[in-house]
Amino acid sequence: MATEADAQELAALRALSARIGSNPHLTQAAGGNTSLKAGDTLWIKASGTWLKDALSDDIMVPVAMTPLIEAVKRHDPAADKPQAFAIDALNPRGLRPSIETTVHALMPQRVVLHVHCVDTISLAVQADCESEAARRLEGIEWAYAPYRRPGLPLAQGIAERLRPGVDVLILGNHGLVVAAETVAEAERLLHRVRSLLARPARVMARPDVEALTALAGDSGYRLPADAEAHAVALDVDSCRMAEAGSLYPDHVIFLGQGSVLARPGEQVADVAARLGEDPVAVLFPGAGVLMRGDASSGADAMQRCLADVTVRIDITARLNYLTAAENDELINWDAEQYRQKLNAAG
Ligand SMILES: [Zn+2]
Repeated sequence: MATEADAQELAALRALSARIGSNPHLTQAAGGNTSLKAGDTLWIKASGTWLKDALSDDIMVPVAMTPLIEAVKRHDPAADKPQAFAIDALNPRGLRPSIETTVHALMPQRVVLHVHCVDTISLAVQADCESEAARRLEGIEWAYAPYRRPGLPLAQGIAERLRPGVDVLILGNHGLVVAAETVAEAERLLHRVRSLLARPARVMARPDVEALTALAGDSGYRLPADAEAHAVALDVDSCRMAEAGSLYPDHVIFLGQGSVLARPGEQVADVAARLGEDPVAVLFPGAGVLMRGDASSGADAMQRCLADVTVRIDITARLNYLTAAENDELINWDAEQYRQKLNAAG
């Protein structure tokens, strides 16, 4: 830490990170990340750690910013492995910087918050996101970055759209970035943007817990951790949106490609037999959701996120889904390192 002022801001950022991480409408599982620039050092959340643990655990890693930005500018694949830029002398636990470190480094402001805010995601999956966000964010210096795989491709996509003065980014099929010179200003901007993008959730029927308990039986499946997760199965429009594919990357990383809906009369075993595998989650339309017994807490958090996102999407909107290639790229991408590390954290 360069100065006392930097140390105070880092403490404030950790407190804010814990608040953000405790709100399932802002972040889920190991998703989302926060950072502070102190001189040439970027303090950023470590990969696989959860923002909610920011006060109880050491989750911030120092990264040498200038070499990382130079690597992004020359399209050096090394920038896709930000651990090579961690400052070892200040990183005794050997934490690995978030895969989204380059996004934070590119923003010139001192404090950057990246969240998987459900209000933002529900808009960021709509094909009309840019025009709708423009209408709602009047007076804010914002930019839209179309979907790219998190990491170097996303950072390069943002670099193409960034203009001087921009302090809000809407990331297509992904989430929100806000940036400011202080932690307090960044928090205010986050809540301002979130409230401008917010739309009411459709009212849902109640889950049929009795039917779900009977369906779970001795199948090895269980009820989800959060009752809110059922909503995606309790509404025809949410079911239609979920069934059509993957809407954002963390869904694919924690739950696999798209969503699995049981057909009328199907038991868990019938669904598994039809697919030739045991899906992490099964939606029973009109009843609710069951999770595979060994599903991680990250998978539970993402299943709830799907409900929270889909109930806010405009039912008349055309949606953008991740393509087959984009799904594959996430499933096969550093899977042994990144995805399993995230899952292990859950
Ligand atoms: Zn993200």
